[in-house]
Amino acid sequence: KLSKRLETVADFVIEGSRIADIGSDHAYLPSFLCVNGRISFAVAGEVNEGPYQSALSQVQKLGIADKVHVRKGNGLEVVSPNEVEHIIIAGMGGALITDILEAGRDKLEGVKRLILQPNVMADRIRKWLLTNGWELINEVVLEEDEKIYEVLVAERGNPDQPYSENRELELLLGPYLMQDKNPAFIKKWESELQSWKRILLQFEQAKETEEVKAKKEELIQLISKVEEV
Ligand code: SAM
Repeated sequence: KLSKRLETVADFVIEGSRIADIGSDHAYLPSFLCVNGRISFAVAGEVNEGPYQSALSQVQKLGIADKVHVRKGNGLEVVSPNEVEHIIIAGMGGALITDILEAGRDKLEGVKRLILQPNVMADRIRKWLLTNGWELINEVVLEEDEKIYEVLVAERGNPDQPYSENRELELLLGPYLMQDKNPAFIKKWESELQSWKRILLQFEQAKETEEVKAKKEELIQLISKVEEV
């Protein structure tokens, strides 16, 4: 059984697609999809020896090594152009996910869908998608074991589509998530607001240089915009 987080990721896999799961660790996700007959080909990529060995033994144990190919390498290095239709990168920070996509741009040929699950800094990914021709088509925010995760799904299309004139804020909060405002979303941003307010308090106690003043002003603006949502 998968975690709620990985199950949410799995739900966005179109049945029968060829997928690559980058940073697959134990290869739980491709194994689950394969054992349940939802996919018949996957690449499970891992850069680190320990997780790579875990992935290998998992697919061998399940007898699915012919369908789930475990490969060792950095990011998208483990896939060839046109080999897979979905790329999944889950359980890392948004900055690392973005770096992996950026470094592997030439491997995105033939890829129709990206399913990305950042633990933090989802805005970095939204910005990358926007400037690289990927349309954000869906987003989910969920809570599991007191942690909040986001799942972003993108396809080739019109990258501007989900955004309005309020784009800066939508890139931060998520254009779909801020419409939806589910309990995980509220919890996440209430906690962010609290930490921003603590920072603001520190600014107020600091000596007011031009720099501090500008940063303070910026933070006040941000707090008020997010509070409004
Ligand atoms: N994707 C799984 C999940 O969501 O449960 C595992 C997440 S685990 C926290 C992150 C994994 O990504 C680790 O096993 C790590 O070795 C791997 N990783 C980190 N950077 C990577 C890279 N550049 N290329 C491939 N794998 C990477």
